[in-house]
Order: sequence, then C-alpha cells, then structure tokens
Amino acid sequence: MTDSLTHSSAADEHWMRRALQLARSAADIHEVPVGAVIVRDGVVLGEGFNQPISGCDPTAHAEIVALRAACSREKNYRLPGATLYVTIEPCAMCAGAIVHARIARVVFGAVEPKAGAVVSTQRFFEQPQLNHAVQFQGDCLAGECSEVISAFFKTRRDQQKALKARLQAGNPDGDE
Ligand SMILES: [Zn+2]
Repeated sequence: MTDSLTHSSAADEHWMRRALQLARSAADIHEVPVGAVIVRDGVVLGEGFNQPISGCDPTAHAEIVALRAACSREKNYRLPGATLYVTIEPCAMCAGAIVHARIARVVFGAVEPKAGAVVSTQRFFEQPQLNHAVQFQGDCLAGECSEVISAFFKTRRDQQKALKARLQAGNPDGDE
C-alpha cells in the first residue's frame, strides 16, 4: 500500500518549508494560508499559494496554482516523476487534478478533516478504477503547517472581535 503517514525525509522537510513560506504569502493577502511546491530531480517546476478570493477563482487552490505554473514551464499538461508538496491535505478537486497531471507523489503536512480527500473524508488516490497511481505521504511538518492555519483564523477572529467592540462603542472609525 502507498498509505504511509510517517517517515518524511530531510529533502521532504526542505521542500515543505518552502511550501510553508508560500502559505504565509497567502495569509499576507488575507487568503487561507496553504502553499504548494512541485519538484522533480531537486528542481522546482512550479509553486503556488491559495488565492481563490483575490483571484475570483474557486479553483485557485495552492495545488492548482502550482500545477498550472509547472505545466506552463514544462510546456506539458502532465508532470511524470514530479512530487507535489502541500501544507494541507488536498481536497477532492486538487486530488483529481493531481491524477490528471500524473504527479508521481504527494507529500502533505497537516490533515484536513472536513475537506481532505486523501485520508480524511475519502481515499481518493486509492480508487481502483484510477489508471494512475499517486503515492502519498502525510504528516510532514504537520505541526507547523496547521499552526499557520490556526494563527490565521485566530488573527481573523481577533480582528472581527475588535471591530465589533468598536462598532458597539459607537466609534466605527476605530480611533484608539
Ligand atoms: Zn484543493
């Protein structure tokens, strides 16, 4: 079985750290911070971070943005032999795109219990009818990957609370 949630290598952690940097770029523009990097033979083919709101594009998840960049660089709609690193477990849409792109291996950070399609809500890559097998592995720097997400939502909650407090105080300009 390809199901392995342990043993990420030093190289895996190196690329996951790059994906984490990209995730932080998403947070900078107020998007849910998820980052992705596609690598083959030690060379970055494409990168991306989550940007559906700013891009007015429901498909602009980190993985899809990275796939588009890599395919465009390679001038090929398929990326055989490539590994995709992503900070959070891919959703069903991204898992489907990963199969279409013939990505060889996916390494993700934290699981996503509500939308993750690799091990959480379903086991997308293990469907027997698929004509391409994607190897996958989770739990690569999972703590750091989920921390970026929880810090983002905490900041957003704090900001909303502060705004509400200002509005209740009758001071919508927020002079402090
Ligand atoms: Zn997705």
